[in-house]
Amino acid sequence: KAKADGKGTFRRFDPALDARVRARRNLEADLRRAIAVQEFELHYQPLVDARTGRITAAEALVRWRHPERGLVSPADFIPLAEETGLIGPLGQWVLRTACTQAARWPAHIRVAVNLSPAQFRDLRLADTVKAALTTSGLAADRLELEITEGVLLADEERTLATLTRLRAAGVSISMDDFGTGYSSLSYLRRFPFDKIKVDQSFVRQLPGDAESAAIVRAIITMGTCLGMAITVEGVETAEQFAFTTAEGCDQVQGYHVSRPLPLAEFLSFVDAREAA
Ligand code: C2E
Ligand code: MG
Ligand code: MG
Ligand code: MG
Repeated sequence: KAKADGKGTFRRFDPALDARVRARRNLEADLRRAIAVQEFELHYQPLVDARTGRITAAEALVRWRHPERGLVSPADFIPLAEETGLIGPLGQWVLRTACTQAARWPAHIRVAVNLSPAQFRDLRLADTVKAALTTSGLAADRLELEITEGVLLADEERTLATLTRLRAAGVSISMDDFGTGYSSLSYLRRFPFDKIKVDQSFVRQLPGDAESAAIVRAIITMGTCLGMAITVEGVETAEQFAFTTAEGCDQVQGYHVSRPLPLAEFLSFVDAREAA
């Protein structure tokens, strides 16, 4: 079918485009339904202290337990949730669930929750976070919020105000995927993050690749001098673990320590590790 658009030209029917639009609409409806029935779960990936090897925190990573598709990874629905505004209710669920579950963990283990730029544009964010803490009973100093450089591209004044309010409430702020966005260095001067998480793309070719090694070393030095803790993400091998800890990072996260685990398995992992 071709349809006149009123200006004397014709738009051709594009079956591929139509299929994509329909697939997207279906996924959006499915996501909306899944949020209503809370079809999600959080997996937790430990962060270990580089010096002691003890688990100091765990990052909450959301998964969609889909009735037909099985366990769906966040890469397949977070972008759509962000575009459609569904990240609001989904993010609230993640925050509340992470705080409620972490409140029952050993008190030295903190929980890290990812926030997307869209959540950050909501002026109620600081209140939402405070409410999650109050309801769950989790101490504010046990919550770390992870943001990406994308957050900082938006309205700078507003972002700084929200970050400052969150910090005043006692939660800490981590810069996630550091090194993959723009103008990272000026942000670090404007807002003192508590922690920098070195993106896994810089870790992939360690320790063999000289450029990657230089970049990781430089980020660790710079962050440390600015008073921030440094976590290296995506550490998969014993060699990468040895390299990054020798360079003086504070925490390590990656498959070498553990994959993200369902809650019960995470708690067993903590027990086994503490016993060792
Ligand atoms: P991220 O916050 O940078 O999380 C780290 C990702 O790297 C996770 O992928 C984790 O499973 C993966 N990873 C950890 N260690 C290794 C490793 O050694 N090797 C490799 N190759 N990968 C590793 P995941 O769980 O698929 O999450 C992907 C992204 O989705 C996250 O990246 C985060 O940006 C986003 N995300 C996850 N959960 C949430 C959430 O609750 N809210 C929001 N807004 N975003 C989320
Ligand atoms: Mg993260
Ligand atoms: Mg990351
Ligand atoms: Mg990432």
